[in-house]
Amino acid sequence: MQAKLIEPNRIELQQGMAQEVLDRVRGQKKTYYIETYGCQMNVRDSETIAGLLQRMGYLPAETKDTANVILFNTCCVRDHAEKRLLANIGALKERKDGEEELIIGICGCMMQQADVAKKVMRRFPFVNFVFGTNVLWRLPELMLSALNGERLILTEEEGFAICEGLPARRSNPFSAFVNITFGCDNFCSYCIVPYVRGRERSRELSEVVGEVRALAEQGITEVTLLGQNVNSYGKGMDVDFADLLKAANGVDGIRRIRYMSSHPKDLSPRLMAAIAENDKVCHHMHLPVQSGSTAILERMNRRYTREGYLKLVEDLRRTVPDIELTTDVIVGFPGETDRDFEDTLSLMDQVGYAAAFTFKYSPRKGTRAAEAADQIPEPVKKERLKRLNDLQARKTAENNQKYLGHRGEVLIEGFDRRQQTILFGKLDTFKMVYFPGDERLLGTYQTVTVTECARNSLLGRME
Ligand code: SF4
Repeated sequence: MQAKLIEPNRIELQQGMAQEVLDRVRGQKKTYYIETYGCQMNVRDSETIAGLLQRMGYLPAETKDTANVILFNTCCVRDHAEKRLLANIGALKERKDGEEELIIGICGCMMQQADVAKKVMRRFPFVNFVFGTNVLWRLPELMLSALNGERLILTEEEGFAICEGLPARRSNPFSAFVNITFGCDNFCSYCIVPYVRGRERSRELSEVVGEVRALAEQGITEVTLLGQNVNSYGKGMDVDFADLLKAANGVDGIRRIRYMSSHPKDLSPRLMAAIAENDKVCHHMHLPVQSGSTAILERMNRRYTREGYLKLVEDLRRTVPDIELTTDVIVGFPGETDRDFEDTLSLMDQVGYAAAFTFKYSPRKGTRAAEAADQIPEPVKKERLKRLNDLQARKTAENNQKYLGHRGEVLIEGFDRRQQTILFGKLDTFKMVYFPGDERLLGTYQTVTVTECARNSLLGRME
């Protein structure tokens, strides 16, 4: 669906409020801290929040303890993120008791659920405001209300319209996330995203390419196009994801184009050809399989079969021979039998993913799967997850072996956490390589040769 845009007069109103906040805090060196949970979409949202706060005169704080504004950008997809969040908010009560002007806000998917937002406001009366993912652009209004001592909840926004042109403070100086779609239409039976992020909307191709061009002008050379399902970009419009890849490929200064995530049901031959034909499009695809059993895939409402998925992988590897695949897998989905689980193991073995994000099924309130009567006992889920992880560890190690002696270009992104003389960068295929070097090389592209394959990473030397 083509996105409806927020009306210009409503944006102007917010800009006026941002100016008012700026006038109130001018010269006071106020700072902010954003704690982000969940996926890349949330990371990208936090960059917009940071950009808006900076427009209002706030500066990034070194730590949460010294910040004047603390925002929690929440996720409702993973259960443990929810528990960690609630503990972290609760821990701020004492500080707020002694520091009344501290502003605390909560946003993100979890807050998009109106009942959860209300519950959080009741449970934590020291929180100033909560707001959902689709109303980030109204942050000036929320900040102004907090400065005026009011408490506010903003979750609903009719039609989930998109706001273009918001500022962003990018968290990575070399590589940037670019949203291409918002929301999701797929209603996988375990997933809360369509309920909290709304129906799928695509940004105009010219807006996406304009953002990519602006990033290139700032010196960013790698972009990751983001959507819950990038493969269905352009639904209801006269362009598709293949067109978008081609257009982004034409932007001067951009050297690498990544994308995430790809729903298998929308992976067309045309898209595979676009990946092969556009030289800046990286040869890595995150293609979540979720289960290797057709019966479970049907209950998940994934709309492909085991055989259909394997055929896609075959076609993709024929079209783009060196493409690396990564995936997501859920074990212990309601009704998953030993046989279903064995099917997942055999699919994983057959495909040979470079890496896999594996999860035990955890029910999300409001989804169809959460209501299923045949939930799998926790010890069974745990045991299946262990077997799956053991298998994937073997497959990752096996996959790494093929890189021994491989020579390829990496974008150098940072240092090894433990050694400041070891840099890391990713190959086009998303494989991380560690090698000796110094900080002057950060953000550059260098050719490395892989000399050693550790269990989870590759070691190499620069040419
Ligand atoms: S494709 Fe399925 S799992 Fe992914 S966001 Fe949409 S509903 Fe959730």
